[in-house]
Amino acid sequence: MMGTIVTFTVIDADKAQAAAAVRAAADAMQGLADALTIYGDHANTVKAFNDSIPGTPMRLGSDAETVLEASMRVSGQSHDAFDPALGALDVLWGFSLQPPPSTPPSPQTIDRDMANVHCLTRTAGGWVRHSAVCQLDFGGIAKGYVVDQGIRILQQHGIHNAIINAGGNLRVIGSHGKRAWHIGIKHPRRPGAILGAIDLNSGESISTSGDYEHFFMYDGKRYHHILNPATGWPSRGVQSATIVAPSGIMSDAWSTALFVLGPAGLPLVARLGMDGLIVDADGHLHMTPGMRGRFQPSSPR
Ligand code: ADP
Ligand code: MG
Repeated sequence: MMGTIVTFTVIDADKAQAAAAVRAAADAMQGLADALTIYGDHANTVKAFNDSIPGTPMRLGSDAETVLEASMRVSGQSHDAFDPALGALDVLWGFSLQPPPSTPPSPQTIDRDMANVHCLTRTAGGWVRHSAVCQLDFGGIAKGYVVDQGIRILQQHGIHNAIINAGGNLRVIGSHGKRAWHIGIKHPRRPGAILGAIDLNSGESISTSGDYEHFFMYDGKRYHHILNPATGWPSRGVQSATIVAPSGIMSDAWSTALFVLGPAGLPLVARLGMDGLIVDADGHLHMTPGMRGRFQPSSPR
């Protein structure tokens, strides 16, 4: 689902009840994923918006509306590091297409497809895009929203202790017996290894954005799927950015934003009540004070 594997962990529940809950959550999550993506061949209001006549307002579906409003908030708070209007550039780079890319686009095509969040406005009649290259892409936030909705459905089915993990966007409820849910954070350069781990309280979500899941090497340089909205090129200086937040939508959007902001964004993240961790280009760790208090490194440093 959403270009990744989604795993459900449910404990302390009747087997049939758990199975029914997971089935219902997965089905609803697939529906939401289809409503929010710009890829694949399902029609949805996000794709319709990206095809709408510039200057003409259009109403989005209610989930897309919610996700766009959250995106705009994160954009503003992150000083435009998070940008939901990079759809044309995302398609140009092609990290979500098959086959995946192996060379960067030309600087000319990047200039042609550059847009930013300020090309979007909200009017009484709906959202307006102001140019043809102004296209939505919720790739940096949708998984977290979808995970939140999945958790809600598990709870409606009487599930109290569970994890939903959508490719590194993870949220927990309850606990693992007497202990808190203990979650590993991937090492950005050692496949299969973890950098460290963290205990999550009920309802908390953790997301990591990294340069190691979708990338190619070209001329000795790494090109990956998190773009710097100011340049249209992959954001440099960070290998991975992790956020712990009270909801999936926030941890997902802010892990992408923090990746672009780099270590300078950590005080902002802390001010907004979240914990953050960055592995910089040299492999050095940077954390908010809250993260320092709970991060358990896997090997002594
Ligand atoms: P993943 O999808 O691997 O979990 P992210 O949550 O960081 O990683 O999302 C990356 C996706 O977000 C990209 O594939 C693209 O769709 C979109 N994106 C890329 N750069 C930005 C950005 N600066 N702001 C918002 N979304 C972005
Ligand atoms: Mg994200």
